[in-house]
Amino acid sequence: MKTIFFDVDNQLDFLYPAGALHVPGAELLLPAFARLTQFAKSQHLQILSTADAHSEDDPEFKTWKPHCVAGTTGQQKATATLLGSPLQSIPSTPGAPMPIDAAQILIEKQHTDCFTNPNLEPLLTKIAADRYVVYGVVTEICVSHALFGLLKTGARVELVTDAVRHLNEDSCNQMIKRFEAAGGALTTVSSVT
Ligand SMILES: [Zn+2]
Repeated sequence: MKTIFFDVDNQLDFLYPAGALHVPGAELLLPAFARLTQFAKSQHLQILSTADAHSEDDPEFKTWKPHCVAGTTGQQKATATLLGSPLQSIPSTPGAPMPIDAAQILIEKQHTDCFTNPNLEPLLTKIAADRYVVYGVVTEICVSHALFGLLKTGARVELVTDAVRHLNEDSCNQMIKRFEAAGGALTTVSSVT
């Protein structure tokens, strides 16, 4: 069974209290992220990481405070979520080269839904995983888009409930119910690793 770890938006601006769009409590997840990353490394599991890469005047900043501007410190991924091998980025440009064998692939995006990067779907078709293990922020927003998009591939999709963080608890709980009803599974860091 081919397992892929799917790491959503674990960037400094979201995870750290000093970040531009801090998700309260997300900083407490760093040990969980480190454990998942180290497990992936030890088992040679590929990690697909999504990451906001905004321009300075990105239209999304009408909805959200400016965050994750490409090239800034806040846009960088937390060390706990890095395998340590060179990150191979896939921009949102249609037809961008796909380094499908890289240990860790960074899927850049300009919207909350990672599937707005037109290269993600063809990448997943090439990777043909049986199982995706999903973690990161924000549970009911970017993680939710990732979960439902991944379910469409037909693979088993597991949400690591103690390695995600929400902004709105009610919306988060409703999303989790919809995810389970759609065939998704819930798991924890200790059962995954
Ligand atoms: Zn954003």
